[in-house]
Amino acid sequence: MSETYRLHGDVAVITLDNPPVNGLGQKLRTAVAEGMDRANADPAVKAIVITGAGSAFSGGADIREFNTPKALVEPTLRTLIDKAGASAKPVIAAINGTCMGGGLELSLGCHYRIAKTDAPLALPEVKLGLIPGAGGTQRLPRAVGVEAALNMITTGAPVPAVKFKGTALIHEVIEGDMLEGALRFARQVAGKPARLVRDIAIELPDAPAYFEAARKTVAAASKGLTAPLKCVEAIEAAVALPFDEGIRRERDIFTELIQSTESHALRHAFFGERAASKIPDVPADTPTRRIERVAVIGAGTMGGGITMNFLSAGIPVTLLEMKQEALDKGVATIRRNYEGSVKRGKLTLEKLDKAMALLAPTLAYDDIKGADLVIEAVFEEMGVKEGVFRKLDEVMKPGAILATNTSTLDVDRIAAFTKRPQDVVGLHFFSPANIMKLLEVVRGAKTAKDVMATVMALAKKIRKTAVVSGVCDGFIGNRMLERYQRQCFYLIEEGATPQQVDRALENFGFAMGLFRVGDLAGNDIGWAVRKRRYVENPEVPYSKIADRLCEMGRFGQKTGAGWYRYEPGKRDPIPDPAVDAIIDAYRKEMGIKPRAISDDEIVDRCVYALANEGALILEEGIAQRASDIDMVYLTGYGFPLKRGGPMFHADTVGLERVVAAMKRFAANPHGDPGFWEPAPLLARLAAEGKKFNA
Ligand code: NAD
Repeated sequence: MSETYRLHGDVAVITLDNPPVNGLGQKLRTAVAEGMDRANADPAVKAIVITGAGSAFSGGADIREFNTPKALVEPTLRTLIDKAGASAKPVIAAINGTCMGGGLELSLGCHYRIAKTDAPLALPEVKLGLIPGAGGTQRLPRAVGVEAALNMITTGAPVPAVKFKGTALIHEVIEGDMLEGALRFARQVAGKPARLVRDIAIELPDAPAYFEAARKTVAAASKGLTAPLKCVEAIEAAVALPFDEGIRRERDIFTELIQSTESHALRHAFFGERAASKIPDVPADTPTRRIERVAVIGAGTMGGGITMNFLSAGIPVTLLEMKQEALDKGVATIRRNYEGSVKRGKLTLEKLDKAMALLAPTLAYDDIKGADLVIEAVFEEMGVKEGVFRKLDEVMKPGAILATNTSTLDVDRIAAFTKRPQDVVGLHFFSPANIMKLLEVVRGAKTAKDVMATVMALAKKIRKTAVVSGVCDGFIGNRMLERYQRQCFYLIEEGATPQQVDRALENFGFAMGLFRVGDLAGNDIGWAVRKRRYVENPEVPYSKIADRLCEMGRFGQKTGAGWYRYEPGKRDPIPDPAVDAIIDAYRKEMGIKPRAISDDEIVDRCVYALANEGALILEEGIAQRASDIDMVYLTGYGFPLKRGGPMFHADTVGLERVVAAMKRFAANPHGDPGFWEPAPLLARLAAEGKKFNA
């Protein structure tokens, strides 16, 4: 810990020191306020510098204090900011590194700001469903102009300090030693009149038209979230109102948002992501294995995408296929994907070349034996996986991690094909694997702890959200999806249309309804899985409606028809009377009289089906915690972020109400007896008035 208050001749230096990111918690706020009082009372002090310990200035408010009485204990962040501005001696924020949220708001309240060239500046509150609540929306537009402030505040994205050189946000960029630069700057400005950001006038001709256009752009990019639009509203207040009134408006909006389900959901996801990386019986200091070379088996849809993750992270990959043709095709697809990113301006040619140079295609197992990690992504058939794993066991060096990307097969059985089941783990990527955030890490019965620690750390390196799952059919995500899908099929049997189901789910906030997803991914994939399940679980009733479509070759976009029809070369789903006829015939055959079904019923049945299976998964220990299940659905299945995931959504509705609705659904004469039996955990929590996410 560095000393908070230190005199350097006639300059007092206050150091924000609260690892890891110098969060402005109550203790630190008090120390800073005391430091400013002390400096002002000391006649020897001419100027005050505030800087951060370590590599950050301040990551902002301590978000663990949100909605707790601690955030309201004086000095609050706003009091502290006012105090800096009211100081008789100039206060200089010396931004030595990351400066975000409340950290940036504090610096905006100071008389001057100087910064390290690349110090990332951001107001990321919007990512938590909030607006900056300590003057950020009122001061930043005054300091950098409305346009730049709007971009920063509505996206929450960091911008390097140097970009603001010459604006009222950054008075000087410091290339060398920060403290030295800060002391020099402080002495330069001491005793001279200083202007506060709050006193800068904002010039914006035709503000109403400007904000009208801004609202449209922001709404289009905000995926149904409210907070980005509220950011625009607050910035509009900065333009329209005198400073103090604008601050009050900002506070009102902040107070409204902090109580919203959306903000709770986003904060749940924020903490959920961090929690997911922890495994209770694998301590953080578990030694990890070195992963410097990766091999991928199978250059198909998944193998190619998986390979790209490592290439992009600078890790060399040897990609193995059975046949030259498949190998060439896989490599060409990888290159084409990178070229697409170059065309969209997301990647430089230099980076493309660098990534491709790390790729070594091969047909020979001899070329992969030195890899530290091998990921199998061949056909989803146990026999094929067996062949691959027996071979891997034979050739791979001792200590290599052997991973499978299987979606549904038993990882323990796959591990048993080797003499080293402790080295086997499931790494279940989602399609497209180079884009989707989710990685289910499937922990086999014998998977070693250091293997778990290694792959969790590796997931971070390739920027995935890793969630641990135990072994079961479908793991967390696809096992729950089966229940959801089943309800979608029942709903159309009972009277809904695929387009009504999709519309209801999309209005709820899903990225895409189930039937559109099926057409996109290929309905034959689910069909193959169902056919296996019919054999494995003959006692379970399955809706055969989807099979009817598949039997007619309606696999989706790739065949021009599925649950919808598609014009050649287009991806827009068009409702198809042929599908209505198939559904109609199926209903007649089953003796079902169709009824009108409300959108609410559609959504509740689909989402409660997810939550109930989630409860079983939690109880069985397949998932470590309820928030892990939510992370799976938020990052891999297009579940609406603003609703926090299926478990969080059930908590929001109230588990008692969920159970009551399930009882109603169970009374439906066309049903699946037993489907709506509440999981014991759900029943118990509902009876006790508790939640999944305590
Ligand atoms: P795919 O058919 O596109 O690719 C499989 C590739 O493996 C083919 O190129 C094939 O030539 C190659 N291959 C087959 N046997 C091989 C062998 N013995 N040695 C070397 N190469 C071999 O399939 P995919 O969609 O990429 O799926 C691969 C795996 O990933 C499956 O286990 C699947 O369940 C899983 N998975 C798929 C998805 C998805 O959405 N497609 C998502 C998650 C997981």
